[in-house]
Amino acid sequence: MKIAAHTLGCKLNYAETSDLLRRFSTLGHTIVDFHQAADLYIINTCTVTAVAEKKCRTIIRQAHRLNPDAQIAVIGCFAQVAAADIERIPGVTLVLGNDRKHLLPEIVGTLPASGGNPGNQQSNICTAPDGQQTDTTNKKDLQDFQDLAKRETGGDMPKFPLQYSSGDRTRTFFKIQDGCDYFCTYCAIPFARGRSRSATIEETLCMARRIADEGAKEVVLTGVNTGTFGQMDRRHPAGTTHPEPMDRRHPAGTTDTPEPMDRRHPAGTPHPEPMDRRHLAGTTDTPEPMDRRHPAGTTDTPEPMDRRHPAGTPHSEPFLDLLRGLDQIDGIQRYRISSIEPNLLTDDIIDFVASSRAFLPHFHIPLQAGSDHVLQLMHRRYDTALYRAKLERIKAVMPDACIAADVMAGFNGENEEEFAKVLSFIDSLPISYLHVFTYSDRPGTAALRLGEKIPIPVRHEHTARLLELSEKKHNEFISSQIGKTRPVLWESKPVENATLMEGWTDNYIRLSRPYDPALVATITLETITPDNLVRKTID
Ligand code: SF4
Repeated sequence: MKIAAHTLGCKLNYAETSDLLRRFSTLGHTIVDFHQAADLYIINTCTVTAVAEKKCRTIIRQAHRLNPDAQIAVIGCFAQVAAADIERIPGVTLVLGNDRKHLLPEIVGTLPASGGNPGNQQSNICTAPDGQQTDTTNKKDLQDFQDLAKRETGGDMPKFPLQYSSGDRTRTFFKIQDGCDYFCTYCAIPFARGRSRSATIEETLCMARRIADEGAKEVVLTGVNTGTFGQMDRRHPAGTTHPEPMDRRHPAGTTDTPEPMDRRHPAGTPHPEPMDRRHLAGTTDTPEPMDRRHPAGTTDTPEPMDRRHPAGTPHSEPFLDLLRGLDQIDGIQRYRISSIEPNLLTDDIIDFVASSRAFLPHFHIPLQAGSDHVLQLMHRRYDTALYRAKLERIKAVMPDACIAADVMAGFNGENEEEFAKVLSFIDSLPISYLHVFTYSDRPGTAALRLGEKIPIPVRHEHTARLLELSEKKHNEFISSQIGKTRPVLWESKPVENATLMEGWTDNYIRLSRPYDPALVATITLETITPDNLVRKTID
């Protein structure tokens, strides 16, 4: 069977698609470019914004035009939250949410030989069997699917599939965590990807050794909320989607009531990150996982929710211990942490990165808003003071570190007064560049009912001004690095008619040099100059 795939969204999706294609290849299928005629098109979708969902629909239609007889499997976040809508798109034959998409290679074997759903018959559709998002018109396929899931997992509990991308000897995206327990008010990801979960440190290191054996030089640790690695909320089975009404803190119809508490930890929310009540909120961390729904000093109730761990042995392993273990694996020369929430980026982690063998001085720390009022409406778990403190700590121990920040433009409450604070706050920080997203309402999220709505044209104007600021910050960062010598990992693909090759410095500056096949996947020390600098869009 010829199989083509298209991935939308984040690095996690890329790791998952790559893993699926590798498994299809092992089963004897041929992987072809997405623009070619294929027997099966896999579209790994994203739901982070309304724009992302629109792109998903466009790609599905494109696949159907490429081969109207092909099977089209739509998987991932958008598939999880809008399966019923996706089923109606002509050509779609399979819709799998996040909790089952890793079973796709086995499920495809149960599908009829010819695909296509041109008449909107909705035949052969099967979806995530939690029944929340959609029903199915083909009960047999669904039953097969559920049986398959049980065989795979040894029960009802999906195990955590460690996955990684391949295809390039230089860089691999390694999924070490999935899901999120935070429920930021604008975000549908916890509903699309379920609660935070991960494998054990031992299992994760085992997979990292395999990645090293396959020759990867740089590993990017990816996850939805990577810093919650190892922290499992045992009251909710790992891998389940959130079964309750979407916003448990704000019943439908109520307005938001910003709590006069610690705004980094909204009342009633789970608190999965390492915390110690003997330390004042916002001070340095200690490794015990606490839960604010349990009174200080009491222990957590020992439900044996995670079947991989016997009753009474909670799966709670510090993220920092994982980093220490990874640093000792031979063969992997570089690690980047794809993203980590500021409240989870402890001083211990920062200091470890600064002194480690292989972790690079490159951080991606979501900010989302540079106004405490807006952060509060978002129910983020930090304020601007904490964010500033983290960046100052990084720069104190790694002065040349690259620091990227996600920022959302036009969220509720971001009026001109608040937006001026956002711009001023970002400008005052040692941020190297921004990933800017325009806020859009996500169905079912608490933000639909919160605060002052910002008109859509104003959201776009804020986006444009943030992008301008990002450009300025990036130029400042690059200028500060001119003349410095940094290690560069050279990539395998030649560019510009094979005359040049490119690679990233440890602190994420793109350089080029004349192509030399002997240098592919090797690291050399290079002095950054205006001539070898590659000005390109940051990915
Ligand atoms: S931390 Fe917040 S923004 Fe990030 S995935 Fe979780 S809920 Fe969404």
